[in-house]
This record gives sequence, structure tokens and C-alpha cells, in this order.
Amino acid sequence: MSSMSSAQKFFAALLPGRWMEAMEADSRLWIVRCSCGCARSVWELGGIRYKAVGEPRWFMRCPQCGRRSWHKVSRDPLSSPPHKT
Ligand SMILES: [Zn+2]
Repeated sequence: MSSMSSAQKFFAALLPGRWMEAMEADSRLWIVRCSCGCARSVWELGGIRYKAVGEPRWFMRCPQCGRRSWHKVSRDPLSSPPHKT
């Protein structure tokens, strides 16, 4: 793992290795999307989302369009990426 957020390091120190792997795998399946089409996984953003349900919205700044807006969080693999211009 190249870099982990402090929250991720906290869990990594606390949990058995394979549990942490499952948590990372799950966090990578949760995708945070901006209305501009920018999509990143929860894990990339330094977050953890494990065995979660529902599709919350996170208010944050988008690095692509630079706007602060509500991002949709959904369990939606990046295998079908959003359209890019
Ligand atoms: Zn954006």
C-alpha cells in the first residue's frame, strides 16, 4: 500500500491483515462521484466504507472541477467508467 490516510492506518493497526484487506476491497467498490463526472473510490479518498448499505452523499471539493458540491456515493465499480470528453 503506497499511502494510507490516518483513518486507514488506524484500522490497519487495529485489525487482522485479512480483515483489513476485506475492508480495503470493499472500500474500493464504493465510488464517490461528482456531477462533473469525476469518480474516485472511497479508499482513494482516504475513507473506509465496509459492509455499508444505502447511497449517502458527501459534501466535498472536487479536484477535477474545483467546485464544492454534494458527491454521490454508490457501490458502483469503475469497470464502466463515466463518459469523459
Ligand atoms: Zn467535479
